[in-house]
Amino acid sequence: MDDCLFCKILSGEIPSKKIYEDEFTYAFFDISPQAKQHALVIPKQHVSGLSALDTMPDKEIAACLRACHAVAVQLGIAESGYRMVSNCGHDACQTVKHLHFHVIGGNPLSARMA
Ligand code: 5GP
Ligand code: ZN
Repeated sequence: MDDCLFCKILSGEIPSKKIYEDEFTYAFFDISPQAKQHALVIPKQHVSGLSALDTMPDKEIAACLRACHAVAVQLGIAESGYRMVSNCGHDACQTVKHLHFHVIGGNPLSARMA
């Protein structure tokens, strides 16, 4: 998609620090980390967010979930614990309209979700 920040990261037009990649997903460090470790996992196919999952093949959805754990392993936080978050829509403060999963950890996280 022409005007999508994360599509531009996928194409290399905007640089990113890669953590992990497979056939369906790409993972990189968040530019503004909210925990000691903060990665973003995105599908290579543009999908606007969780509300558009119906347009995404199941194997690509599964690949995103598996990629989150692979990223946690790579960042060394799989054992200590991590959180995966996907903001959807206005109230959840979704700022980039390309489906993405935050993977955060590396320090104790708040027990509160909101
Ligand atoms: P959202 O608020 O939509 O759930 O998450 C978007 C995330 O993208 C934010 O955590 C923000 O810091 C990150 N982000 C925004 N622009 C860039 C960028 O150019 N590069 C990287 N690596 N992350 C970005
Ligand atoms: Zn996109």
